[in-house]
Amino acid sequence: MASGGPTRTCVALVTGGGSGIGRATAVKFAELGYHCAVADIDEASARETVGMLKTPGLAVQVDVSNAAGVQAMVDTTVKQFGRIDCALNNAGIEGAREKIVDYPVDMFDRVMNVNLKGMWLCVKYEVAQMLKQERVVSNPETWADKPELCRFQGQRGNIVNTSSTAGLGAMPEFTPYCSSKWAIIGLTKTVAQEYAKEGIRVNAVCPATTDTPMRDRFEAHWPDWQAKTDASYPVGRVAAPEEVAEAVVWLCSDACPFATGEYLKIAGGR
Ligand code: NAD
Repeated sequence: MASGGPTRTCVALVTGGGSGIGRATAVKFAELGYHCAVADIDEASARETVGMLKTPGLAVQVDVSNAAGVQAMVDTTVKQFGRIDCALNNAGIEGAREKIVDYPVDMFDRVMNVNLKGMWLCVKYEVAQMLKQERVVSNPETWADKPELCRFQGQRGNIVNTSSTAGLGAMPEFTPYCSSKWAIIGLTKTVAQEYAKEGIRVNAVCPATTDTPMRDRFEAHWPDWQAKTDASYPVGRVAAPEEVAEAVVWLCSDACPFATGEYLKIAGGR
């Protein structure tokens, strides 16, 4: 076997990991051998996800809109696992359904605090941690058949932010949600440029409707939404959270080292 490859395990951090896309991604990371910190405002759901992982996991309670809490989430992860190779910043809320004239101002603040400020804080403290980490220099011969080994040639870390197809278009009656998802793409592109030379890649995923509890809540807001949505996809159905998870782990992997500041739309052909 060639020498020079790392022998340690990779570490992932997933916010909003107690449900839906975050849970599916934590499970996927663990299948690939990553140790995974699962962070959520709902600690019980984070613990439940950790119980589903094949590798050692860590449940972290965090409100991503709180700066001290996000810093503590990063510190706790590093204390437990030593570093953060990959982060999926994914915690999000949909807010209310109202046209802008009737939209409650306090709900605008809530959505922006979680979806945008929360995302900004996670990226800020994760990048600060990644800058302290040494670049990984791995030898392909050592990791070709060993997914548990680190795959991040020359990288300090990889970040993926969950935007949405709402971040590429309009979503009537959900102005704060839609605005926050557009802003996440701007945040992603900007930080990617700020730290590209430091070996930190930052990308976004833009899922269309995905079969999660958030989808159920959208339907509660909007009773005829599911039928419209399923029919509106060329593939005839919405996404499974596991399909979004596959895109996240791919963006984090050495398969796409030149991809940074990108968004990957997963929209069933729509
Ligand atoms: P979900 O509601 O199933 O999961 C979201 C998770 O985020 C929950 O576990 C929740 O407790 C957690 N969370 C909420 N506020 C938090 C906070 N302040 N701090 C920490 N955790 C918090 O929803 P999902 O569908 O899995 O959504 C995940 C992400 O994907 C969201 O950002 C969402 O906007 C985005 N998204 C979802 C869809 C969809 O159709 N489901 C489509 C595109 C994008």
